[in-house]
Amino acid sequence: MITKENILIIGAGPAGMSCAMELCKAGKKSIIIEKENCIGGLARTFEFRESDLLFRTDIGPHRFFSKNRYLYRFIEDLLNENWISVKRQTRQFIDGKFYDYPVNATQAFKNIGPLRGAAMGFSYARGFIKYQICKNKIMNFEDYIVANFGKNLGEFNMLNYTEKIWGIPCSEIHPDWAKQRIKGLNLISAVKDALFKKKNKDIPKTLVDTFYYPKYGTGLIYDTIAEKIKKCGSIIKTSSYPTQIYHENAKITKIKLNINGKKQEITPSTLINTIPITEFIRLLSPSPPKAVVDAVKHLKWRAQVYLFVTLDKKRITNDNWIYFPNKEIPFGRVAEMKNFSKEMSPKDKTSLFIEFFVNENDKIWNLPKEKLLELSMKHFETMGLFTRKDIRNCYLLRKKNVYPSYDLDYLKHLKVIKDYLNRFENMDYIGRSGRFQYTNQDHSLEMGILAARGIIENKRYDFETVGSENEYFEKGFIRNDKTQRRTVNDLLNK
Ligand SMILES: Cc1cc2nc3c(=O)[nH]c(=O)nc-3n(C[C@H](O)[C@H](O)[C@H](O)COP(=O)(O)OP(=O)(O)OC[C@H]3O[C@@H](n4cnc5c(N)ncnc54)[C@H](O)[C@@H]3O)c2cc1C
Repeated sequence: MITKENILIIGAGPAGMSCAMELCKAGKKSIIIEKENCIGGLARTFEFRESDLLFRTDIGPHRFFSKNRYLYRFIEDLLNENWISVKRQTRQFIDGKFYDYPVNATQAFKNIGPLRGAAMGFSYARGFIKYQICKNKIMNFEDYIVANFGKNLGEFNMLNYTEKIWGIPCSEIHPDWAKQRIKGLNLISAVKDALFKKKNKDIPKTLVDTFYYPKYGTGLIYDTIAEKIKKCGSIIKTSSYPTQIYHENAKITKIKLNINGKKQEITPSTLINTIPITEFIRLLSPSPPKAVVDAVKHLKWRAQVYLFVTLDKKRITNDNWIYFPNKEIPFGRVAEMKNFSKEMSPKDKTSLFIEFFVNENDKIWNLPKEKLLELSMKHFETMGLFTRKDIRNCYLLRKKNVYPSYDLDYLKHLKVIKDYLNRFENMDYIGRSGRFQYTNQDHSLEMGILAARGIIENKRYDFETVGSENEYFEKGFIRNDKTQRRTVNDLLNK
């Protein structure tokens, strides 16, 4: 292991890998510990070989979008011509009909019909009066949707899809979820966009119609980082994880590790944690105060089950992905990976990645792949996408801790945990599960870069604003010393 300056990163997802890459650019080595047998975290790309045919898939569709120009350069430097721009096509399948997304006005009007359309208009007006004019307080996600779209339109696609993701009613979901997903979007802006398609530079993030994608899957970013950081002397240990994290006087002092089945210890100068915040707290020794341990028990995660189906068909849709808000359809979203890059499927073949939102150990989580496929096939056949005869193979994946659950109390409990963790002088906790924050890979990459910059410049960055709003980067802050903050804009955007 590296001596002298031991920078330990736990988790080889986008946050951990970007941190290691930024350190490497400054000539600093790090040690990365990853519990899985591969790197990339939720942004890895799987390869499935079927004799001489190679199918690739991400864990679901991974489009890249960011307002941070530094990040674009960061990835361009890694991938060069292997970073391609893809025209987005997305649809929703609702009540037996397909709808383009962002909305195509003519198609939506035709499918919905004038009566239902008028009812949606009235219901929007009711929501507008209640929340925008009478200023009723928005207490939960349902209120947010009713205020911005009206109840009828909300129930048509957003509320039921959201309940599918979370498995709880929208009235029990924190309005933060809307900020993460659809901030800046409302019925009027959606209609304007559908009618005029004007090029608005402040377009809400759900409406972006072109995105970047690595030619061989999103995992290419992390495989390329792995190659580069190994050359600069960094070490990646897969199938490895911490078993205990010791601390004293607000410093991480020693970490016990399981490295490929062998016990080892490390005394890190700095620790960058990207593993679930709940797991991290449980590994601390001595154990944190009872209030913190109790707060951890209140944070919940949503898991996912995936089917990846390889098909003897040239193509089944032109979509990158399709959403399925109706509850009687057991899956929530599918992605045809070939429509992200032609390298994702062999010529004349295609594949479909199917996502189910579940709780760990519930009925769907425990179903074998044959049963899950059977549950799904009747819907695909009705839609006319493909038949059982077209299927070559089917693969099943299960992932825990995929979505940090934004229930109404999560912020209260998270604050107790963060207030405790913020005291550690030589530890930053970053990333989606590391901060229990629903963020995309761009935000995790950004947090990793900021954590590295903190080490390089002996300053500490504040991760709280990353991913919290569209313009988060412009509003980022830097902590000059342990307490002072100043803007990060000039630093990373130059
Ligand atoms: C279905 C789906 C679709 C998505 N689509 C998009 C998209 O279109 N665009 C986009 O930008 N983002 C997308 N994302 C989000 C993106 O994948 C995540 O934001 C990103 O991967 C988070 O990176 P991270 O490093 O913070 O966390 P992770 O990717 O979760 O990485 C954490 C790493 O820590 C490891 N780990 C966990 N516990 C331990 C332990 N005890 N010891 C050691 N290692 C451990 C994990 O194995 C993992 O490798 C999507 C995610 C999903 C699930």
